[in-house]
Amino acid sequence: MHRLGDQRISTSAVSDPDVKPSYARVVIDRSIHRELDYSIPETLADRVGIGSRVRVPFRDKSVLATVLGLLDESPAKGIRPIDAVVGEKPTISPILLDLARWMSTYYCSPFEAVIRSILPQVIRHAKVGWKKQLFVSGAKEIPPDEIEKLKKRAPRQAELLEAILKLPGPIPAADLLRQTSLDNQTLRALEKRGFVILTESAVARDPHADEQFVASSHLVLNEEQAGALAALEEAMADPKAAKPILLHGVTGSGKTEIYLQAIHSTLSNGKTAIVLVPEISLTPQTVERFKSRFAESQDTIAVLHSHLSEGERHDEWHKIQSGRAKIVVGARSAVFAPLNNLGLIVVDEEHETSYKQEEAPRYHARDVAIVRAKLEGSVALLGSATPSLESYYNAVEGKYRLVNLTQRVDNCALPIMRIIDLRLERKKQKFPAIISEKLRTVIEDRLNKREQTILFLNRRGFSTSLLCSACGEARNCPNCSVALTFHRAMSRLTCHLCGHTAAVPKKCPACSQDTLIYSGFGTEKVESSVAQLFPRATVRRMDADSMTRKDAYRETLNAFRTGKIDILVGTQMIAKGLHFPNVTLVGIINADLGLHLPDFRAGERTFQLLTQVAGRAGRGETAGEVFVQTYTPFSPSIQFARHHDFAGFFQQELEFRERCEFPPFTHAILITVRSAHQARAQFSAETIARRLKENLPDEFLRSAPTAAPLEKLQGQFRFHILLRGSAILRLSRLVRETMDKLPLPEDVVAAVDVDPYQLL
Ligand code: ADP
Ligand code: ZN
Repeated sequence: MHRLGDQRISTSAVSDPDVKPSYARVVIDRSIHRELDYSIPETLADRVGIGSRVRVPFRDKSVLATVLGLLDESPAKGIRPIDAVVGEKPTISPILLDLARWMSTYYCSPFEAVIRSILPQVIRHAKVGWKKQLFVSGAKEIPPDEIEKLKKRAPRQAELLEAILKLPGPIPAADLLRQTSLDNQTLRALEKRGFVILTESAVARDPHADEQFVASSHLVLNEEQAGALAALEEAMADPKAAKPILLHGVTGSGKTEIYLQAIHSTLSNGKTAIVLVPEISLTPQTVERFKSRFAESQDTIAVLHSHLSEGERHDEWHKIQSGRAKIVVGARSAVFAPLNNLGLIVVDEEHETSYKQEEAPRYHARDVAIVRAKLEGSVALLGSATPSLESYYNAVEGKYRLVNLTQRVDNCALPIMRIIDLRLERKKQKFPAIISEKLRTVIEDRLNKREQTILFLNRRGFSTSLLCSACGEARNCPNCSVALTFHRAMSRLTCHLCGHTAAVPKKCPACSQDTLIYSGFGTEKVESSVAQLFPRATVRRMDADSMTRKDAYRETLNAFRTGKIDILVGTQMIAKGLHFPNVTLVGIINADLGLHLPDFRAGERTFQLLTQVAGRAGRGETAGEVFVQTYTPFSPSIQFARHHDFAGFFQQELEFRERCEFPPFTHAILITVRSAHQARAQFSAETIARRLKENLPDEFLRSAPTAAPLEKLQGQFRFHILLRGSAILRLSRLVRETMDKLPLPEDVVAAVDVDPYQLL
């Protein structure tokens, strides 16, 4: 038995095809942190390959496992044989296995956890199969007199037979019976006579089967776009030598059109492509843009997202693995799509933090895409209007090639951003209105001109806390260290972290006085204030609470597009990628929300969000205006966003990161230790910190173990240790070695997060 990574075994095919390897080295789907060897029975020899899924005996159970390598001999003792092969072909390609090894090392994560990310559950367990359907076709030669006889004896069978014989090929039995309104019995009778043949075949469950896509063709690129495409084609001509490309294009500069044309050229070269988009942007609108450009064959595009049924996921996955699908559009995990001959991986909105998976193996899909592209010999293309500091820094340092799109398509102007200083509003009135006077005037103006408005606030609910003005107690979540949010539609208090809800008390439960006040506001309250201010306007809200029904999202967007809604209020759900020509005004209700979080990326996130939201304005004939309400009008994030000055923001933020030794100048690893028992979590965090101090050389920075900013979450007390250093692979390895040797009490969990994005 071997520890993972002790010994490298060849993941290439065995050299002599006549000599069958006798052993397989596997990793089972359990956290045992080591590889095991099994013998390959003669009967399975043809079907066991690198990447195969197999069933093996482990202790007294039969468990699923993945084959990592084939061996002629094994040093292990007491080797048992593989029980069975699951599925037909090897399920993971050798390149994906290499990627898995890299992820396991880099992200300090057990190999089996990585396999769980790479293979969807429906494939790993192979419990769901193809949907089978019965197909009918006519038998080859039926003498005419037989048909005549049948007409007399069994006219209904004859009728059905004639219909079948007219068919150009096999069709689903159910369709035929529906068309002819005859029954199954008649059909079976014909089969008995040998006049028709019934066969069962697999059919795909296509989530987009009932949609029609109107074919679209290439747009004529403007000069900047043409330059960007040329850079890509140059890279695709010699992908091994090419660097990843960072496409920095302002909102509305036509990045998607470049993706589409680059994919087209990849396909013309006989290769395939993956397009990653953030889950939140994987809207029908986005899917349609891809499907309609490659409409010639229904199968060309596979779409992977979290709302597929198990059956649909099974079918899409096999459509990809069998080579029928050439393009995969999907969210984070689509980076593992089993395409062969991969030519291009596009990561749209590469700065989006939703590319980071917040459970083991805690990978970042953009970074995995870069590594996969390298292993596959394909080109990686990262696109964004607001690139992450990390990626832009890589471009400035020459690791990536930077390509710029500075103009909006058709030279539409970027929207004008105006700042509304809420401190001045506060001087005017003690309780400033949610919608300042200035913002109210411009909304009124848009209503008069029959133009549309988007109002953005990144916080749900009606009131963000319920306080007692006598004793000062707030209603907090019993499981998390945050205040409960009041939702008026439900008329309950809710925790946005764990989902706990509570009734709204009439009196303060702490001091029993009738002195409760609501404070802070979310989108629900914005919606209601706006509706009061503008009674003749149609106002709708779009956030996780109002969009629970399956079609609500599509319906609301359609209503907005067709002008049935005047004012759309929403959270980040409306910040991304939407394109509405008639929106000429965007109001940002409170730009400060994310700015003061204890997270070194707070400034970067605010800059990105403001720029993205502002990008929703003025995408048609009329120039757009953006009004930003803020208490900190001079904060750099707001000022640079206002002047559309990415370079300026980057420069200033980079200096801050360098001063504080934060990414991109270092890599960080965040260890979170949690337990339902506060003292035990703290004690374990201190023990881990002590061990790390012994094991880590001084080049690595270590923070003392401290209570996390979000000290309690879902009933667990949390402590943080933050490590930083440049040599991330070495740091990862040392952390893993330290943690492996350190048994924790049963009720304490330590999570290691490499390149963390969630610092609360
Ligand atoms: P981005 O992704 O950079 O925000 P999009 O790719 O969505 O921008 O492009 C914005 C709009 O401009 C889309 O409606 C797109 O069809 C259109 N567009 C893009 N390129 C061109 C072009 N070369 N000529 C005309 N219209 C274009
Ligand atoms: Zn909670």
